[in-house]
Amino acid sequence: MENLDAAPERDIRRRYVIGLIARELADAVGPDHVSVDPKDLEAQADDWSWMSQYMRYKNLPHPTADIAVHPANAEEVAACVRIASDFGMPVVPRGGGSGTQGGTFAPYGGIALDLTRMNRILEIDHTSLVVTAEAGIDGPALEEELNAVGLTMPHYPGSFHFGATLGGFLAARGSGVLSTKYGKAEDLVLQVQAALPPGRLVETLPTPNHASGPDLVQVLVGSEGTLGVITQAAMQLEPLPERREFLSFGFPSISEGIEAGRRIMVGRLRPAVVRLYDEKDTQKLASWIDADVEGVLLVLMCDGPSPLVDYEVQQITQVCGEVGGTSYGPELGQLWWDRKYEPFAHGKAPAPPMVFGTTDTCARFDRLEDIYWAKKKVIEEGFAEYGATYTAHFSHWFPWGSMIYDRFYIDQAPSDPDEAMALHDRLWDAAVRASLENGGTLNEHHGVGVKLGRFMREAHGEAFDLLKSLKAAWDPDGILNPGKLGFGPPRRMN
Ligand SMILES: Cc1cc2nc3c(=O)[nH]c(=O)nc-3n(C[C@H](O)[C@H](O)[C@H](O)COP(=O)(O)OP(=O)(O)OC[C@H]3O[C@@H](n4cnc5c(N)ncnc54)[C@H](O)[C@@H]3O)c2cc1C
Repeated sequence: MENLDAAPERDIRRRYVIGLIARELADAVGPDHVSVDPKDLEAQADDWSWMSQYMRYKNLPHPTADIAVHPANAEEVAACVRIASDFGMPVVPRGGGSGTQGGTFAPYGGIALDLTRMNRILEIDHTSLVVTAEAGIDGPALEEELNAVGLTMPHYPGSFHFGATLGGFLAARGSGVLSTKYGKAEDLVLQVQAALPPGRLVETLPTPNHASGPDLVQVLVGSEGTLGVITQAAMQLEPLPERREFLSFGFPSISEGIEAGRRIMVGRLRPAVVRLYDEKDTQKLASWIDADVEGVLLVLMCDGPSPLVDYEVQQITQVCGEVGGTSYGPELGQLWWDRKYEPFAHGKAPAPPMVFGTTDTCARFDRLEDIYWAKKKVIEEGFAEYGATYTAHFSHWFPWGSMIYDRFYIDQAPSDPDEAMALHDRLWDAAVRASLENGGTLNEHHGVGVKLGRFMREAHGEAFDLLKSLKAAWDPDGILNPGKLGFGPPRRMN
């Protein structure tokens, strides 16, 4: 049994070590950019996960770091990682804090590494249509600069106005509303620079397509700060489209809607937007964007040069008609586009005391409908005593399948925080297992964080050991974002 009398002594030792590390960090980044103020630490840990929102609602403290650091450039990030390595101290990177998986929580304390001072565009290569920028730049700031020269980085997540940064887009393989045509963040990235233990700064090859060994870009991308801190990235750009054309269709049921999407994609048409809403999500969307529509709704947008747009609109109209779709004209699509951030506007998004979760998954066409019905059943029947509801839309389509953006909602969380957290976990257990058992993935674009780490072995099987070996080789002390992606605590705490 632990000798409790030793605890205060341990606190004194820890305080001393934290002071020592804070002074070294101040030496590296300047004293004004290091803080141990509990308010700063709380702000750095906070994100948009249900857990975080619930803690705010209940006035409960977050698991915070011991020191917050605000480096100005990649070299300073590398210096911070070196100091952290010297002391075996965890490092928790943070971009805009718009994540939903508790990725910025610091369950083992350590250093909260705020990257938002690193917000410069380093180069716009007009010949190759590539931008290189620091990882802490936020989406709208980058997009504004690009639009001013007729270009766009076509990644518009729902969190566009929640501070999401370039590094955050890449950290969890984000999706934007145009991903069906232009790809997810992981498809847009050409090259990354990252800081790794014990303080080295590495850069991947200048192009992503090569035959020089496995692709290090795609190891760092999606690693959520557990294998390296992304300090800058080169991203593919597009010219702003000459024209955008909107379409919308109603379908008798979700089956015909999925079939329409499948035929569009396997017919190798490339609309920029394809969003199929089940009845309940159509209802929600209609109220959020103030539209008069019900039933299963499909919203599309084609963009690019006029002849291409004309061709795609004509083909899509034909396909949708063939599977029982009724055209609602372009207005609904235009309305959705104009108000696309409304469902996420502050005050409209769900919030505690509601219990909710976006359990997005991704699967091939042949599994999509089974997953949808299986998840609806486990949520609505499995949690009927709580009046749970399930809604879904299919909003990022691939040549082989689609993403299901689905959510559970329970109107009122139990008042006891432990019970509320346990109910939230049980809902996730049911939703994730229904995805995995029916051929879906653990997640599609929100990432894993602290919330879904417990499912990583179930999702990857034996291959999870390979990921763990990679983690052990690149980050032997386990200091990079410990507790995330199912990688467990830092080594020295084991
Ligand atoms: C209302 C709302 C809507 C959303 N809609 C979408 C959507 O449509 N598509 C989508 O993809 N996501 C969406 N998200 C989730 C989230 O906004 C994205 O994952 C976003 O890209 C996170 O960026 P961030 O800078 O805020 O990251 P943070 O929240 O700061 O961090 C998220 C994770 O990434 C790590 N990280 C951050 N920066 C770095 C870095 N430079 N190097 C290494 N690791 C890093 C952090 O440690 C953490 O684990 C939404 C979130 C909200 C609240």
